[in-house]
Amino acid sequence: MSPEQILKELIHLAHELGREDRQLVILGEGNLSADCQDGTFWVKASGSSMAEIDENGFSRVRFEPVLEMCAWNEAPGKQVMQGLRSALLEDGMRQPSIETFLHAVCLHESEAKFIAHTHPTAVLAILSSKLGAESFMHHIFPETIPICGRAPAIVPYTEPGLMLGQAVRRSLQTHFEKYGEMPKIMLMENHGLVVLGISAREALNITRITNKWADILLATYALGGPKYLSSEQVDKFLHLLDEQIHKDQ
Ligand SMILES: [Zn+2]
Repeated sequence: MSPEQILKELIHLAHELGREDRQLVILGEGNLSADCQDGTFWVKASGSSMAEIDENGFSRVRFEPVLEMCAWNEAPGKQVMQGLRSALLEDGMRQPSIETFLHAVCLHESEAKFIAHTHPTAVLAILSSKLGAESFMHHIFPETIPICGRAPAIVPYTEPGLMLGQAVRRSLQTHFEKYGEMPKIMLMENHGLVVLGISAREALNITRITNKWADILLATYALGGPKYLSSEQVDKFLHLLDEQIHKDQ
């Protein structure tokens, strides 16, 4: 896919994520990115609204300088903004989102090609509660297992920007050490959701089902709390899926 085609898919994805009825983002919330597979990636420009975004709402950024900045210990905000500007592929493109670090890390460390970061109402309700992300550590219905992955990665609340990019990198590493694979979803406490998709379609599907998962989880608390699937039930379901895939091939 050419960078122009990838940008078209990103714009479509932003409009889908920005639909008001889905309650995933409002106003300037959220951001998204896609790998151009030439050492650069598209990322939402600062301040654009997902629902109304067009080509001018995205900037194309080089991976290398952004990943180098992720190794900085501490930097004043002005220096970070200047660093991001100098990572732009072309002068004249808009200031990339402050969450460009998070996107660079997710695209670089995983197989994902499209990263979608949203603040879904139901997910954020749980992530802002005393229970926090822990509620999502076990599945409550089987559909989330193949779509959202065995377990989410969790990021404790961290201020947006460079520090969050670093926290995301640590969380991905911890998750990989524990499960031997990269997550499909990342839950940022008191903040929101990050989805790592192979395609734009996958990023949208994972985001939507994670919000449905959160809706159901919230409802279970009115009925005595969630009845989680056991790890044996999860294994059995994954085994069944595996068999089905082999039969279909
Ligand atoms: Zn956010």
